[in-house]
Amino acid sequence: SKWVYAFGGGAAEGRSGMKNLLGGKGANLAEMANLGLPVPPGFTITTEVCTYYYTNGNVYPADLKAQVSAALTQIEKIMGSTFGSIDNPLLVSVRSGARASMPGMMDTVLNLGLNDQTVEGLAARSKDPRFAYDSYRRFIQMYSDVVLGVEHHHFEDILDSHKSDHDLTLDTDLSAEDWKTVVAAYKEKVKEELGRPFPQTVEDQLWGAIGAVFGSWMNQRAITYRRLHDIPSEWGTAVNVQAMVFGNMGDDCATGVAFTRNPSTGANEFYGEYLVNAQGEDVVAGIRTPQYLTTAARQAAGADLPSMEEVMPRVFADLEDVRRKLEAHFTDMQDLEFTVQQSKLWMLQTRTGKRTAAAALKIAVDMAEAGLISKEAAVRRIEPGALDQLLHPTLDPKAERRLLAHGLPASPGAASGRVVFSAEDAELWTKKGEKVILVRIETSPEDIGGMHVSQGILTSRGGMTSHAAVVARGMGRPCVAGAGELRIDYRAKTLKSMGQEVKEGDVITLDGSTGQVMLGAVPTVQPELTGDFGTLMGWVDSIRTLKVRANAETPLDARTARHFGAEGIGLCRTEHMFFDPSRIIAVREMILASDEEGRRHALAKIQPYQKNDFVELFEIMQGLPVTIRLLDPPLHEFLPGNDAEMEEVARAAGTDIAVLRARNTQLHEANPMLGHRGCRLGITYPEIYEMQARAIFEAAVEVARKSGKTVSPEIMIPLVGTKKELDLLKEVIDRAAAEVFKASGTTLDYLVGTMIELPRAALTAGAIAESAAFFSFGTNDLTQTTLGMSRDDSGPFLEVYRQRGIYEHDPFASLDQEGVGELIQIAAERGRKTRPNLKLGICGEHGGDPASIAFCQRVGLDYVSCSPYRVPIARLAAAQAAL
Ligand code: ADP
Ligand code: MG
Ligand code: MG
Repeated sequence: SKWVYAFGGGAAEGRSGMKNLLGGKGANLAEMANLGLPVPPGFTITTEVCTYYYTNGNVYPADLKAQVSAALTQIEKIMGSTFGSIDNPLLVSVRSGARASMPGMMDTVLNLGLNDQTVEGLAARSKDPRFAYDSYRRFIQMYSDVVLGVEHHHFEDILDSHKSDHDLTLDTDLSAEDWKTVVAAYKEKVKEELGRPFPQTVEDQLWGAIGAVFGSWMNQRAITYRRLHDIPSEWGTAVNVQAMVFGNMGDDCATGVAFTRNPSTGANEFYGEYLVNAQGEDVVAGIRTPQYLTTAARQAAGADLPSMEEVMPRVFADLEDVRRKLEAHFTDMQDLEFTVQQSKLWMLQTRTGKRTAAAALKIAVDMAEAGLISKEAAVRRIEPGALDQLLHPTLDPKAERRLLAHGLPASPGAASGRVVFSAEDAELWTKKGEKVILVRIETSPEDIGGMHVSQGILTSRGGMTSHAAVVARGMGRPCVAGAGELRIDYRAKTLKSMGQEVKEGDVITLDGSTGQVMLGAVPTVQPELTGDFGTLMGWVDSIRTLKVRANAETPLDARTARHFGAEGIGLCRTEHMFFDPSRIIAVREMILASDEEGRRHALAKIQPYQKNDFVELFEIMQGLPVTIRLLDPPLHEFLPGNDAEMEEVARAAGTDIAVLRARNTQLHEANPMLGHRGCRLGITYPEIYEMQARAIFEAAVEVARKSGKTVSPEIMIPLVGTKKELDLLKEVIDRAAAEVFKASGTTLDYLVGTMIELPRAALTAGAIAESAAFFSFGTNDLTQTTLGMSRDDSGPFLEVYRQRGIYEHDPFASLDQEGVGELIQIAAERGRKTRPNLKLGICGEHGGDPASIAFCQRVGLDYVSCSPYRVPIARLAAAQAAL
């Protein structure tokens, strides 16, 4: 079978659709070659070889060697040089490339094919022999590090001491002779570390590197990464072998990385960095400060070093051309890697570029408006959860700022927190409940955990494509990178900048959108939801069929919900209104009363407050439906916590404290979640629901009259398990309505419905629907009651359950579609059979979870209801579910 796919010379055997077989890098190199872009010739060894290797006791397929050497000959033909030849050696890079980009895999080895003889041949052929020895030392270091396991620092030490012995500062200051000396010392070191010399046979070098790529698929870091990202180990990795092109041959050479649009803002401008006379890894490694690609970006940053546009205008124009072609072809923003050898451009990689949520939005909208993609594609492209980044506050432009430093706007958003100087400290402080800003000279993959828990990240070194910048954008953390004036002292845990000193624990603020760093906490303002956001949400709303409501009870929540586009309230939890300090005493009095009369006495005190709550809600919601759930929690949740509170209640009720204490004890329950709560309260103490219903209707009548708008209360009974419960309570509500309407001389439409949160309710939904005008699936309780698993106590063992694959997701966060979902489906079907126009919604946490929303769409619910900040996320998820 075919194990090797060639590319280059204007054609390729693979294409971008073959990522499973060729890995992301290999498939896109093939695609670029097919598009006629300048790609150094090479070949990809497929992921199937990796799978074969591991299922056959670590051996390669028999015919692999022959296919590799045929493909190598093909490269030699195109390049006019020969692998291992002394006169005219071909050098290659060996690059790993899984389907999904995977840090933790083997790094790239460049300049493979150099040995003591070929290096002389290469030197003899080039204008400046320096480049040959520079390449050789790079090769020895990389190969030794990633293939032979001789650590980096050995080589860095050798280079550093050579530089200080000879009074040299920069790598570019070293001559051919210098590099020769360094190479000799490197080889000596390898021999010392391994007890054998650095491999001189080019075939051994090649197979050593190929073996290291396949070997790295099973190293611990890669295994961990796969587990965290749900990547199956059967996928395997591909290996790319590609002719070297040289960015380190002199001043008409360069290497760089670019995004076809600004990855931070999404602006349609070319964005990138490059280094003259350098090889690939130098840009990311942060050894030298990279220069800007475009003059506009250079000027905006006030940088001195010239842009590529200024230094190599012709090559830059070629790169612009590639940018246009790739965007038109892939119809998405691309992340490019390129090298310039003696004024000729070579493309080394393209992939879909990572971007911030704001950039994702802008790019999708711009591309749809330009007709490059459809509106549906634009909507499909935004990950709903990523919108979260855009819904949170930004720095108040009017607030005073005490500037501490200025860096690159690497990842937008505002963040304030206490300064910590290491990833471990970030995690430690966060565990203690502190909000932190991680400050580092630069970050590395070991810092991921600390970056994740931090509010924001600040570095003193590195560009827009540095580790900190890329990772922060991916995580949606604000980041200011390369703030050069910062003097960070890890040992003293201080930073100095612009004559000011900041110690560990001091508060600073980052503005990742401008690159400013401020002392202290700067106040924030709510984001504008217009512009691209508004445009995209307009498309979203025209696509989706599911309505989106919010769970809200306070006026603030209700306003936020409307601001974010909620189409009503799906769950107003009335008990939250009871905790207000001005009424909790009356609530306690009501609960502790020993008879109906005592309860009515206390309820009369609560009713005016409760009515006002609803007046406010109805006013804010301006005619949109408002679903109000009558009292639900076990009464003991409201009980006085101590003697002082007990006395307060005794005074208010005019009762003896001893009587109250006895009643308090009486109310204690062993399993309150399955105890005296929900509609059971309404059955035993109908006067509570009666009071609530009255308050709702009086408020509705008042607002309807004042505003002239319809007010649509939907009264919802919790924890119903039988039709009879609902019938009894509906009677109470209807009676209250009739009385209020009669007294006020007005009537209005209202609905009485039920929560479905017990399996019995779901199963008997056909009967319950005879009395219920709507069902709202309370999936928090329905999950709890279906799985028989307490949501308050399940954390510790659920984690183990997830690790063992018993439940793939936390069933309280993402709906258990197999179990709980089945009950929802049964209830929806049986309910609608009885009452075809039965309104169906969901109001658990799941109402804001995209996967659960897709499920709700499939079973035909009318709406989802979620917390106000998740409303836009739910709108987008609903649109995607409808596509
Ligand atoms: P990564 O997946 O870590 O980005 P790559 O395989 O893309 O690793 O290699 C990193 C860099 O090495 C590339 O961006 C490029 O600059 C350089 N490189 C890889 N192959 C070649 C080559 N054949 N010629 C010149 N430079 C190369
Ligand atoms: Mg790369
Ligand atoms: Mg419930």
